[in-house]
Amino acid sequence: MVKRPFIVGNWKMNLTLKEGVEFARQLKNNLGARRDVICGICPPFVFLKDVCLALEGSGALVGAQNVHSDKGGAYTGEVSASMIKEVGCSHVIVGHSERRHLLGETDSFINAKVKAVLATGLKPIFCIGEKLNEREEGRTEYVVKNQFKDGLRGINAQHVREVVIAYEPVWAIGTGKTALPSQANEVHSFIRELLTAEYGKDLAKGMYILYGGSVKPENAKELMAQPEIDGLLVGGASIKFESFWDIVKAASTPCNNN
Ligand code: PEP
Repeated sequence: MVKRPFIVGNWKMNLTLKEGVEFARQLKNNLGARRDVICGICPPFVFLKDVCLALEGSGALVGAQNVHSDKGGAYTGEVSASMIKEVGCSHVIVGHSERRHLLGETDSFINAKVKAVLATGLKPIFCIGEKLNEREEGRTEYVVKNQFKDGLRGINAQHVREVVIAYEPVWAIGTGKTALPSQANEVHSFIRELLTAEYGKDLAKGMYILYGGSVKPENAKELMAQPEIDGLLVGGASIKFESFWDIVKAASTPCNNN
Protein backbone atom coordinates (compact mmCIF):
# COMPACT_ATOMS: atom_id res chain seq x y z
CA MET A 1 0.00 0.00 0.00
CA VAL A 2 1.37 3.41 -0.94
CA LYS A 3 0.78 5.88 1.84
CA ARG A 4 -0.20 9.42 1.01
CA PRO A 5 1.94 11.99 2.86
CA PHE A 6 0.07 13.11 5.98
CA ILE A 7 0.66 16.77 6.93
CA VAL A 8 -1.05 18.28 9.96
CA GLY A 9 -0.74 21.79 11.35
CA ASN A 10 -1.04 22.48 15.07
CA TRP A 11 -1.91 26.14 15.53
CA LYS A 12 -1.53 25.91 19.32
CA MET A 13 -2.92 29.10 20.96
CA ASN A 14 -2.49 31.34 17.92
CA LEU A 15 -4.50 33.24 15.28
CA THR A 16 -7.83 35.03 15.46
CA LEU A 17 -11.08 33.43 14.34
CA LYS A 18 -11.03 35.57 11.18
CA GLU A 19 -7.46 34.55 10.36
CA GLY A 20 -8.23 30.89 11.03
CA VAL A 21 -11.24 30.86 8.72
CA GLU A 22 -9.29 32.71 6.03
CA PHE A 23 -6.51 30.11 6.33
CA ALA A 24 -9.10 27.33 5.95
CA ARG A 25 -10.54 29.00 2.83
CA GLN A 26 -7.09 29.25 1.31
CA LEU A 27 -6.39 25.62 2.14
CA LYS A 28 -9.64 24.53 0.49
CA ASN A 29 -8.92 26.60 -2.63
CA ASN A 30 -5.37 25.35 -2.96
CA LEU A 31 -6.26 21.73 -2.34
CA GLY A 32 -8.92 21.83 -5.04
CA ALA A 33 -9.40 18.29 -6.28
CA ARG A 34 -6.03 17.08 -4.95
CA ARG A 35 -6.30 13.91 -2.93
CA ASP A 36 -2.65 12.77 -3.19
CA VAL A 37 -1.91 14.20 0.26
CA ILE A 38 -3.71 13.96 3.60
CA CYS A 39 -3.72 17.42 4.99
CA GLY A 40 -5.29 18.93 8.07
CA ILE A 41 -5.20 21.51 10.82
CA CYS A 42 -5.75 21.53 14.56
CA PRO A 43 -7.13 24.91 15.62
CA PRO A 44 -7.99 26.03 19.16
CA PHE A 45 -11.32 24.62 20.43
CA VAL A 46 -13.28 27.82 19.90
CA PHE A 47 -12.42 27.93 16.18
CA LEU A 48 -13.18 24.27 15.43
CA LYS A 49 -16.72 24.63 14.16
CA ASP A 50 -16.00 27.58 11.88
CA VAL A 51 -12.89 25.94 10.48
CA CYS A 52 -14.79 22.68 9.89
CA LEU A 53 -17.48 24.60 7.99
CA ALA A 54 -14.92 26.53 5.94
CA LEU A 55 -13.19 23.26 4.97
CA GLU A 56 -16.35 21.31 4.14
CA GLY A 57 -15.92 19.29 0.95
CA SER A 58 -12.17 19.99 0.77
CA GLY A 59 -10.98 16.59 1.97
CA ALA A 60 -8.86 18.31 4.64
CA LEU A 61 -9.19 17.02 8.17
CA VAL A 62 -9.74 19.08 11.29
CA GLY A 63 -8.50 17.99 14.70
CA ALA A 64 -8.73 19.33 18.23
CA GLN A 65 -5.54 19.97 20.21
CA ASN A 66 -6.75 18.26 23.39
CA VAL A 67 -9.66 16.37 24.92
CA HIS A 68 -10.81 15.17 28.34
CA SER A 69 -10.97 11.44 29.00
CA ASP A 70 -14.43 11.47 30.55
CA LYS A 71 -17.71 11.50 28.66
CA GLY A 72 -19.09 14.48 30.56
CA GLY A 73 -19.67 15.94 33.99
CA ALA A 74 -18.16 18.42 36.40
CA TYR A 75 -14.91 19.29 34.59
CA THR A 76 -14.96 23.05 34.26
CA GLY A 77 -13.13 24.20 31.16
CA GLU A 78 -12.81 20.75 29.62
CA VAL A 79 -14.19 19.34 26.37
CA SER A 80 -15.23 15.74 25.65
CA ALA A 81 -14.52 13.63 22.58
CA SER A 82 -18.20 13.54 21.58
CA MET A 83 -18.34 17.36 21.67
CA ILE A 84 -15.33 17.49 19.37
CA LYS A 85 -16.95 14.98 17.03
CA GLU A 86 -20.22 16.88 17.01
CA VAL A 87 -18.62 20.00 15.52
CA GLY A 88 -17.14 18.00 12.64
CA CYS A 89 -13.62 16.99 13.70
CA SER A 90 -12.05 13.65 12.82
CA HIS A 91 -8.84 13.82 14.86
CA VAL A 92 -7.55 14.89 18.28
CA ILE A 93 -3.96 15.53 19.37
CA VAL A 94 -3.29 13.57 22.56
CA GLY A 95 -0.17 13.65 24.69
CA HIS A 96 1.46 16.70 23.13
CA SER A 97 4.69 17.46 24.98
CA GLU A 98 3.43 20.92 25.96
CA ARG A 99 0.58 19.25 27.82
CA ARG A 100 2.82 16.53 29.27
CA HIS A 101 5.52 18.89 30.51
CA LEU A 102 3.86 22.28 31.03
CA LEU A 103 0.50 21.00 32.28
CA GLY A 104 1.59 17.78 33.98
CA GLU A 105 -0.38 15.24 31.96
CA THR A 106 0.55 11.70 32.94
CA ASP A 107 0.83 8.61 30.75
CA SER A 108 -2.23 7.08 32.41
CA PHE A 109 -4.34 10.19 31.73
CA ILE A 110 -3.10 10.19 28.15
CA ASN A 111 -4.02 6.50 27.84
CA ALA A 112 -7.54 7.29 29.09
CA LYS A 113 -7.79 10.10 26.54
CA VAL A 114 -6.64 7.85 23.67
CA LYS A 115 -9.32 5.34 24.69
CA ALA A 116 -12.03 8.03 24.93
CA VAL A 117 -11.12 9.37 21.49
CA LEU A 118 -11.22 5.90 19.91
CA ALA A 119 -14.48 4.98 21.65
CA THR A 120 -16.07 8.06 20.07
CA GLY A 121 -14.94 7.10 16.59
CA LEU A 122 -12.31 9.84 16.34
CA LYS A 123 -8.63 9.27 15.60
CA PRO A 124 -5.95 10.25 18.10
CA ILE A 125 -2.74 11.88 16.95
CA PHE A 126 -0.72 10.36 19.77
CA CYS A 127 2.50 12.28 20.52
CA ILE A 128 5.61 10.78 22.08
CA GLY A 129 9.17 12.00 22.35
CA GLU A 130 12.16 12.46 24.60
CA LYS A 131 13.51 15.58 26.30
CA LEU A 132 17.02 16.89 25.61
CA ASN A 133 18.56 15.49 28.80
CA GLU A 134 16.99 12.10 28.09
CA ARG A 135 18.55 12.03 24.62
CA GLU A 136 21.92 13.18 25.98
CA GLU A 137 21.79 10.42 28.61
CA GLY A 138 21.13 7.83 25.88
CA ARG A 139 17.59 7.17 27.11
CA THR A 140 15.63 8.06 23.96
CA GLU A 141 14.45 4.51 23.24
CA TYR A 142 13.64 3.84 26.89
CA VAL A 143 11.47 7.00 27.13
CA VAL A 144 9.77 6.49 23.78
CA LYS A 145 9.06 2.84 24.58
CA ASN A 146 7.50 3.68 27.95
CA GLN A 147 5.34 6.45 26.51
CA PHE A 148 4.27 4.12 23.70
CA LYS A 149 3.44 1.21 26.02
CA ASP A 150 1.69 3.32 28.66
CA GLY A 151 -0.20 5.50 26.20
CA LEU A 152 -1.50 2.56 24.15
CA ARG A 153 -2.05 0.16 27.06
CA GLY A 154 -5.16 -1.96 26.58
CA ILE A 155 -5.74 -0.87 22.99
CA ASN A 156 -6.28 -3.79 20.64
CA ALA A 157 -5.26 -4.17 17.02
CA GLN A 158 -8.70 -3.23 15.70
CA HIS A 159 -8.52 0.12 17.45
CA VAL A 160 -4.82 0.86 17.19
CA ARG A 161 -5.00 1.04 13.41
CA GLU A 162 -6.95 4.31 13.89
CA VAL A 163 -4.10 5.87 15.87
CA VAL A 164 -1.69 8.25 14.16
CA ILE A 165 1.60 8.33 16.04
CA ALA A 166 3.66 11.52 16.11
CA TYR A 167 7.29 11.33 17.17
CA GLU A 168 8.14 14.77 18.52
CA PRO A 169 11.50 15.10 20.26
CA VAL A 170 10.81 17.76 22.88
CA TRP A 171 14.17 19.45 22.27
CA ALA A 172 13.13 20.13 18.67
CA ILE A 173 9.69 21.62 19.36
CA GLY A 174 9.52 25.36 18.83
CA THR A 175 13.30 25.63 19.26
CA GLY A 176 14.36 25.83 15.62
CA LYS A 177 16.44 22.66 16.20
CA THR A 178 15.20 19.96 13.88
CA ALA A 179 16.23 16.37 14.48
CA LEU A 180 18.50 15.27 11.65
CA PRO A 181 16.36 13.34 9.19
CA SER A 182 18.47 10.24 9.98
CA GLN A 183 17.97 10.73 13.75
CA ALA A 184 14.22 11.04 13.28
CA ASN A 185 14.15 8.02 10.98
CA GLU A 186 16.00 5.93 13.56
CA VAL A 187 13.35 6.62 16.21
CA HIS A 188 10.52 6.10 13.71
CA SER A 189 12.03 2.76 12.86
CA PHE A 190 12.18 1.88 16.57
CA ILE A 191 8.49 2.86 16.97
CA ARG A 192 7.63 0.71 13.95
CA GLU A 193 9.42 -2.21 15.67
CA LEU A 194 7.37 -1.60 18.83
CA LEU A 195 4.19 -1.65 16.75
CA THR A 196 5.31 -4.83 14.99
CA ALA A 197 6.06 -6.59 18.26
CA GLU A 198 2.72 -5.58 19.73
CA TYR A 199 0.39 -5.80 16.73
CA GLY A 200 2.15 -7.62 13.89
CA LYS A 201 4.06 -6.54 10.81
CA ASP A 202 1.19 -5.79 8.44
CA LEU A 203 -0.60 -3.52 10.85
CA ALA A 204 2.63 -1.77 11.84
CA LYS A 205 3.52 -1.16 8.20
CA GLY A 206 0.16 0.45 7.46
CA MET A 207 0.21 2.82 10.39
CA TYR A 208 1.18 6.45 10.10
CA ILE A 209 4.15 7.76 12.07
CA LEU A 210 4.55 11.52 11.73
CA TYR A 211 7.60 13.60 12.67
CA GLY A 212 7.19 16.90 14.50
CA GLY A 213 9.76 19.44 15.69
CA SER A 214 10.68 22.68 13.89
CA VAL A 215 9.50 21.45 10.50
CA LYS A 216 9.87 24.19 7.89
CA PRO A 217 9.47 24.44 4.12
CA GLU A 218 13.28 24.07 3.88
CA ASN A 219 13.54 20.72 5.71
CA ALA A 220 10.18 19.10 4.89
CA LYS A 221 11.32 17.36 1.75
CA GLU A 222 14.41 15.82 3.30
CA LEU A 223 12.45 14.61 6.33
CA MET A 224 9.78 13.08 4.10
CA ALA A 225 12.45 11.33 2.03
CA GLN A 226 13.23 9.11 5.04
CA PRO A 227 11.65 5.70 4.60
CA GLU A 228 10.00 5.57 8.03
CA ILE A 229 8.59 9.11 8.04
CA ASP A 230 5.00 9.06 6.78
CA GLY A 231 4.08 12.64 7.48
CA LEU A 232 4.71 15.79 9.48
CA LEU A 233 3.11 17.50 12.47
CA VAL A 234 3.87 21.19 12.06
CA GLY A 235 3.57 23.80 14.82
CA GLY A 236 5.10 27.25 14.27
CA ALA A 237 5.29 26.96 10.49
CA SER A 238 1.59 26.09 10.25
CA ILE A 239 0.42 29.47 11.47
CA LYS A 240 1.00 31.21 8.15
CA PHE A 241 -0.81 29.62 5.24
CA GLU A 242 2.06 30.21 2.80
CA SER A 243 4.64 28.32 4.85
CA PHE A 244 2.19 25.52 5.67
CA TRP A 245 1.32 25.15 2.00
CA ASP A 246 5.01 25.18 1.02
CA ILE A 247 5.50 22.29 3.46
CA VAL A 248 2.55 20.41 1.96
CA LYS A 249 4.00 20.90 -1.52
CA ALA A 250 7.54 19.92 -0.48
CA ALA A 251 6.28 16.85 1.37
CA SER A 252 4.16 15.60 -1.48
CA THR A 253 6.63 15.81 -4.32
CA PRO A 254 7.62 12.49 -5.86
CA CYS A 255 11.00 12.01 -4.13
CA ASN A 256 8.97 10.62 -1.21
CA ASN A 257 10.02 7.00 -0.60
CA ASN A 258 6.82 5.78 1.02
C1 PEP B 1 4.24 20.92 17.63
O1 PEP B 1 3.76 21.76 18.37
O2 PEP B 1 3.68 19.82 17.52
C2 PEP B 1 5.45 21.26 16.89
C3 PEP B 1 6.06 20.32 16.24
O3 PEP B 1 5.86 22.57 16.95
P1 PEP B 1 7.04 23.27 16.06
O4 PEP B 1 6.81 22.83 14.63
O5 PEP B 1 6.84 24.72 16.24
O6 PEP B 1 8.35 22.77 16.59
